[in-house]
Amino acid sequence: MALLEMKDVRGGYGDTDILQGVSLTVGAREIVVIVGPNGAGKSTAMKAVFGLLEVRGGSVVFDGEDITGWAPHRIVRRGICYVPQVDNVFREMTVHENFEMGAFLRRGELSAAFDRVYGLFPDLKAKRRNLAGDLSGGQRQMVAMGRALMLSPKLLLLDEPTAGLSPKYMEQIFRIARDVRDAGVSILLVEQHAKQALAFCDRGYVLATGANRHQGTGGALLADR
Ligand code: ADP
Ligand code: ADP
Repeated sequence: MALLEMKDVRGGYGDTDILQGVSLTVGAREIVVIVGPNGAGKSTAMKAVFGLLEVRGGSVVFDGEDITGWAPHRIVRRGICYVPQVDNVFREMTVHENFEMGAFLRRGELSAAFDRVYGLFPDLKAKRRNLAGDLSGGQRQMVAMGRALMLSPKLLLLDEPTAGLSPKYMEQIFRIARDVRDAGVSILLVEQHAKQALAFCDRGYVLATGANRHQGTGGALLADR
């Protein structure tokens, strides 16, 4: 059974249906990428998983439970974390304080969570007392990912994590995403950099005007273009 299954999801903002039947799955320990032209509804599909969209048809099932229509705070507690596209670290806080904020829903001892996250982002460990606002764009993206991982989600949603980053940081983000997967967290991400993303992911979907058109392994989708 897939960890996440979107089945024929329809919905949008106001009266307009942006999604017109999106179906996809994410398995355990899998990195799945959504690519497609600008405005296709990639970010909207991700928002539908996180309860940020009025879903008017179809369903979202996570870890054996139908979460369609759930509010984001419930979805977070159920095990999905979302890193939106906007640059959303707390710039006036240090890296470490950002991570602490990420863990605010967590009970008990935080040291194991900090160890795990700093293990994934060794560069940030050295900078843990720096203000997040003083870091580069790529490092801030890692802070945002690390903050989400402080809650130990089963599924991490990343909306264009490499937007505006240099190729060096893009590769680093992809490498870390694999480490995160290998640590047991599934990832669903939206990417503009289709070629690079399809080459690195486990599986991909191509979205066009609110519905998915093709799916397959990254290699098969690349060969298909
Ligand atoms: P890149 O941004 O990596 O250079 P391209 O510009 O070649 O990618 O991609 C052109 C468009 O086609 C992009 O919007 C991309 O998301 C989309 N696309 C990628 N793979 C496929 C595919 N297998 N079938 C259809 N469209 C695809
Ligand atoms: P993509 O991520 O593939 O570029 P989006 O999911 O961001 O596409 O957007 C899909 C469509 O939904 C676009 O036509 C966009 O203008 C529209 N849209 C996105 N966000 C909103 C919103 N908050 N309110 C109304 N329309 C929106």
